[in-house]
Amino acid sequence: MKTKKGEKEKLSAGQLIKNCLFAVGELFKNSPVYETLFVIETVVSAALTAFMSTYYVKILVNMLEEGASFKKAATMIVGFCIAQVSIFVFENLLSYYEFYNCKLRYAKKFNLRLFRKASNVELECYEDPVFYDKYTRALDGLTDKIFHVFYLVIDTLSRTFSVVYLLVYMISVDPGVGLFMIFPMIGNFVIGKKLNVIEQKRYKENTKFSRMRSYVTRTLHLSRYSKEMRLTDVYDLVQDKHKKSVEGTNKVYDKFALKSGFTYWVKVQFTFLLIFEPLLIYCAYKAIVAETMSLADLTVLTSIMATATWEIIRLSDSVVQIQERCIYIQNARDFLGYEEKIPEDAGGLPVPDVIESVEFRGVTFSYRGSDETALKNVSFRIGRGEHVALVGRNGAGKSTLVKLLLRLYDPDEGEVLLNGVNIKEYRVADLRDAFSTAFQDYQVLAMTVLENLTAAEPEEGDRARAEEVLKKVGLWDKVSCLEYGLDTVLTKEFDDEGVVLSGGEAQKLAVARALMNRSKFSVFDEPTGALDPIAEYELFETITEDTRGLPALIISHRLTSAKLADRIIVLGDGEICEEGTHEELINKDGLYREMFVSQAKNYLADDEMGGAV
Ligand code: ADP
Ligand code: MG
Repeated sequence: MKTKKGEKEKLSAGQLIKNCLFAVGELFKNSPVYETLFVIETVVSAALTAFMSTYYVKILVNMLEEGASFKKAATMIVGFCIAQVSIFVFENLLSYYEFYNCKLRYAKKFNLRLFRKASNVELECYEDPVFYDKYTRALDGLTDKIFHVFYLVIDTLSRTFSVVYLLVYMISVDPGVGLFMIFPMIGNFVIGKKLNVIEQKRYKENTKFSRMRSYVTRTLHLSRYSKEMRLTDVYDLVQDKHKKSVEGTNKVYDKFALKSGFTYWVKVQFTFLLIFEPLLIYCAYKAIVAETMSLADLTVLTSIMATATWEIIRLSDSVVQIQERCIYIQNARDFLGYEEKIPEDAGGLPVPDVIESVEFRGVTFSYRGSDETALKNVSFRIGRGEHVALVGRNGAGKSTLVKLLLRLYDPDEGEVLLNGVNIKEYRVADLRDAFSTAFQDYQVLAMTVLENLTAAEPEEGDRARAEEVLKKVGLWDKVSCLEYGLDTVLTKEFDDEGVVLSGGEAQKLAVARALMNRSKFSVFDEPTGALDPIAEYELFETITEDTRGLPALIISHRLTSAKLADRIIVLGDGEICEEGTHEELINKDGLYREMFVSQAKNYLADDEMGGAV
């Protein structure tokens, strides 16, 4: 189901049927009693409509022709009225019951399935635009769409039966009359299809402009753009883009106006005009000239014609709607059916209690779809309790190396070993639990300070520990002054009183979380970029102190902090270019020294340089 951007996706007939069966199967499994009642109600309602426009009219006309009493006729009319109202009330009760008992229950179950899958697929999936698109669309009101497809399928089936029944009835009265039904069918299915093709083309040409408008709207309402909007003249540019997109859409509509308008007109003529007028003439001829049709039949036939025409219109509408909604169901099924390469719940060995060593052996890795090799034949070893600093310029591959260590990706070549065993052998969840991490792109969660620290349901003892780590990272002064302390909600996502942390404070929180959930191995990937050099140095001192005795990998682009580690590995363009202690590397006159000197220049006067080195 690959599509180019801007093109509406299309499903084959087989896929369409499979998705319809999926919707029907899912809902019957979810709430069999309700769905059965719904099917019965739909069928009875369709049968009643068909009956009303055939026998009901005929019986009524015959009764009147035969001089039946008013009471008899009125009783029959009221009887049918009661039947219709009863069905209507039943339908409403069902939909009320459906919302509270079936839809919410199903939505909860289905969304859990999606979330579980989302947390189980590898990180790479989130970087694959096609996959990501499917995931976000799968989440977008999907349960409503599944319910809708179910209704449409049942509705389409019962309508098909009622159209066939009406046709057969007409032919049984007068075979010639059946031929007139060809017009609304041509109108809706043949010309209707042409109209869809034109609309698809128009949609495709307009996509560029509607995307532009949606981008403009986003830049105007999302807070992350608000600063830029106020501090620069970009607002005028954005406004200009909006104007251009509206003009573009106008042009597209102009281009298709005549063709689309004319086709629509032809469709309406076929659907209504061509059928009613000729049919009336035909029936009048049969009743008056040929005298082969009774007045009752004539009345019934015109009533059927109107019912059947509307049934056909609704039928073709339902088919179009089913096609549209099934695309979303297909996306969700593709997503749920995706076979994970590194599933979070995969089994394997438990990670040993003590990490004796972590080793990269000839590791080479490229991101999917990228021509560049992010890591080239990387080999190094971190021993028991050793602190290693990883340094290198931006884009050298430091974060990539961490991602491979945590098995967010697997190497293309070589292996990563833990206590001499390939990390692929360990249980993935266990392996990730063995690492406490703080990343440069840490995201503050819209939860309390405590929950941000525990990243799980807080347990007893967590409060005291939280206070301790917040003191260590220098954030306790801030948190203790907040009205609700550790229970203060962060971000304003859900709570107007929510507190927004500065970039530096958020990074301190990330470090505090890593210290709070200290595991067998600590990884700090530039969690301090937003701090000033002194605050960063102090934080790294804390980290070093706190994780003493346990192995750690520390990444920082400020080399003064790297000095604290037992050993430094210098990464350049995905390759290890130097390795050793700070003193060894400074004396080497390589990349490390070059970086150190250029950074020191920023902080120290020239005559102090020697001292710094
Ligand atoms: P560092 O952390 O040393 O700054 P990274 O490990 O983040 O560098 O990136 C190494 C290289 O891999 C860079 O060239 C970067 O552009 C590329 N890269 C990083 N993440 C991705 C990704 N998800 N997809 C494709 N390329 C990536
Ligand atoms: Mg990085």
